[in-house]
Amino acid sequence: MNDRETLVIAVDGPSGAGKSSASRLVGEALGFLHVDSGALYRIMTWQCLELGTDTSSPQAVAAAVPSIEIESRADGGRIAFLVGGEEPGNRIRTPEINANASKVAAVKEVRDSITALLRGLVRFGNLVVEGRDITTAVFPDSPARFFLTASPEARAARRQKEDSEKGIANQSRDEVKASLLARDKMDSTRKFAPLRKADGVVEIDSTDMTLQEVVDAMLAALPPQFKETARR
Ligand code: C5P
Repeated sequence: MNDRETLVIAVDGPSGAGKSSASRLVGEALGFLHVDSGALYRIMTWQCLELGTDTSSPQAVAAAVPSIEIESRADGGRIAFLVGGEEPGNRIRTPEINANASKVAAVKEVRDSITALLRGLVRFGNLVVEGRDITTAVFPDSPARFFLTASPEARAARRQKEDSEKGIANQSRDEVKASLLARDKMDSTRKFAPLRKADGVVEIDSTDMTLQEVVDAMLAALPPQFKETARR
């Protein structure tokens, strides 16, 4: 599944657990490219909405998948995903996308297509990939797998702060919490590749930890071959 020489750090957890920030910094520390797999599910959702697809119909979503083309490019320490030559930016970070993404992500054809795309990214080099099914379905054989969690209150507070810093939403804390709990529920109960803590993963509850403490804990838990690669 994975190129022998390519190393992948797999990170899963619910919304707002701090996966993106921690994965980005771990990637920076090791020189691994950061991959935000949630962006791919958001792009699929955005494109379905643009195409006028009924996201409540798995058949309609499955039928739209072949027409959605996503290009991947290594760009400044991360993999950028482009549609029509452009990065979607905040167009995939709206409450409308939040509300529809888990429905689209539950469709098998969507998951198969994104899983294949993610596995193909090893051609760019060593990766730190974060999402909901990276440790269980996309790179289950990686020797470096993490499950990040935090209390719902801490997760809602972080999400709301991030959103307001990006100027993309002005929902109340309770609305943000309700939206992320609804997504967690759909993500953990869906039929294909549900969010779950796999056996053998390193679990980190970041509720009372700083971002730097989470990053340090992840780096300390890496198997030796990952650290050796970083020093080369
Ligand atoms: O991580 P983010 O909140 O951007 O992900 C958006 C949605 O994409 C999640 O709620 C989930 O439904 C879906 N997702 C997934 N598998 C992944 C990453 C994201 O199903 N590996």
